[in-house]
Amino acid sequence: MSEPLLELRNLHCEAEGSSILRGVDLVVHEGEVHALMGPNGAGKSTLANVVMGHPGYVVTAGQIFLRGEDIASWSADERARAGIFLAFQYPEAISGVSVVQFLRQAIASRKCLEELSVLEVRLELMEWMERLGMDPAFAERHLNDGFSGGERKRNEVLQMALLAPDIAFLDETDSGLDIDALRVVARGVRTVRTEHPAMGVVVVTHYVKLLEEIEPDHVHILVDGQIVRSGGPELAVQIEHEGYDTFRPVTL
Ligand code: ADP
Ligand code: MG
Repeated sequence: MSEPLLELRNLHCEAEGSSILRGVDLVVHEGEVHALMGPNGAGKSTLANVVMGHPGYVVTAGQIFLRGEDIASWSADERARAGIFLAFQYPEAISGVSVVQFLRQAIASRKCLEELSVLEVRLELMEWMERLGMDPAFAERHLNDGFSGGERKRNEVLQMALLAPDIAFLDETDSGLDIDALRVVARGVRTVRTEHPAMGVVVVTHYVKLLEEIEPDHVHILVDGQIVRSGGPELAVQIEHEGYDTFRPVTL
C-alpha cells in the first residue's frame, strides 16, 4: 500500500496542564473516509485541533506525519498550506470580512499565489454555492456574522470545496442541522470527493444518518483520549443501539 496521507503515532497531548489525548494511533490513506465517534469530552475536537496545529495544545509524546513528514513543529498556517483543513465545530464570526474576501485570501495562501483574480474566485464560488444550495447573496455577507447554524456549516463545506485540501477534518459539521441541511452537507462532501478522489476525510459525528450518506471506510471510537475500537460502518450502527457504555473502561 502507498504511504499514508496522515499518520498519528501514539499521540499524547495536554492543555492547561491536563492530559487529553492519551496515545492515539490513526492511519488515513488517500481517498479514505474515517469517522470518529465518541462521547462528549472524549477528545475528538482536541484531536482535530492538534492535527491542525492549534497553539493551545501541547503534544507531550508521539508524532504526526503528513505524507511521511513529521509536522510537529509546523505552525497551523504551514499545515493549512500543506493541505490540512479543519471545519470547526463552532465556526467563529468575523465581522468586516466578507465570505468572498475571506475565501480569496485563503485560496491565494493555500495555492501560494500573491494575487488571485476576484473574478475567478467569484465564478468558482458561485458554482459551489449553487451546488450546496446556498443563496449567492452569502458571498457578500460578513463571515458567519448572523449566520444560522446551518448556514455556518454549509459555509465550512464551501471553504473545503474551494480550498481542495489533501485531508479534511469535519468536526461535527452536522450537529444542530435538520435532516435536509444534513443531506446538503453530506452531498457537499460527496461532491468534493468526486472532484478530488485522493482527499482523505476524518468526520467527527454522533449521527449514523450522516454516515449513511457519507459512507466511511473506517469508524473509530474515541473514549477518554484513546481509540478503544476501530471497525467498519457496522460499529456506528452498534453505537446507535448500545451507546458508548460498552466501550468505556470498567472502573472497579
Ligand atoms: P469532544 O470534542 O470529544 O467533545 P474535546 O476535545 O472538546 O472533546 O474535549 C476533551 C476534554 O479536554 C474535555 O474535558 C475538555 O474540557 C478538555 N479540553 C479541551 N480543550 C481544552 C483546552 N483548550 N484547555 C483545557 N481543557 C480543554
Ligand atoms: Mg467536540
